[in-house]
Amino acid sequence: MKINQAEIVISAVSEKQYPDEGLPEIALAGRSNVGKSSFINTIINRKNLARTSQKPGKTQTLNFYKLNDAFYFVDVPGYGYAKVSKAEREKWGRMMDEYFQKRETLQAVVLVCDIRHEPTDADVQMYDYLKYYELPVIIVATKLDKIKKSKHQQHIKRVKDTFEVDAEDIIIPFSSETGEGKDEAWQAIKKYL
Ligand code: GDP
Repeated sequence: MKINQAEIVISAVSEKQYPDEGLPEIALAGRSNVGKSSFINTIINRKNLARTSQKPGKTQTLNFYKLNDAFYFVDVPGYGYAKVSKAEREKWGRMMDEYFQKRETLQAVVLVCDIRHEPTDADVQMYDYLKYYELPVIIVATKLDKIKKSKHQQHIKRVKDTFEVDAEDIIIPFSSETGEGKDEAWQAIKKYL
């Protein structure tokens, strides 16, 4: 997909700040430092719209990016950062519930994981949480450039097995370094727009 227009509309901390135009939304979730910002920037062809390597522990916000005046990407704050306090984690949880429980314009969630490693417990919990709300999930297994081609299938299978991926969900091997998986990611996302 060609993105002609991309702008951040709001960094929201609560529901009353969410945009209310009714445009369809795709949320993007993932562990801190997994490569979520790089994924966003790569597929929309912008160097720096989503900030990469944002310091964990900074103000946690839901960032609403409006694309082509037609739909939103909603960047969800990363999870699983060890040094975050219990109070911060609880705040994150409340923010997630407020968003995922009732956001009617939300069509699907991109869950970014690292293809090199077995998905963590936090990754699996996030997947199960999204499935509890009956949301379609597109799993993007990023950093594909970091593993040998001969190992691709083995790593993809491990991601699939660890998440116990639903029949309706899809796994997309991806690299922000090489752009591999970009077309497949758009194809998957477009189905929900
Ligand atoms: P975020 O915290 O999930 O938004 O992660 P970032 O997008 O900031 O990426 C974390 C680090 O991983 C950065 O140093 C990126 O350059 C690196 N990174 C992200 N995606 C890839 C990828 O596909 N391949 C490689 N080799 N490095 C990546």
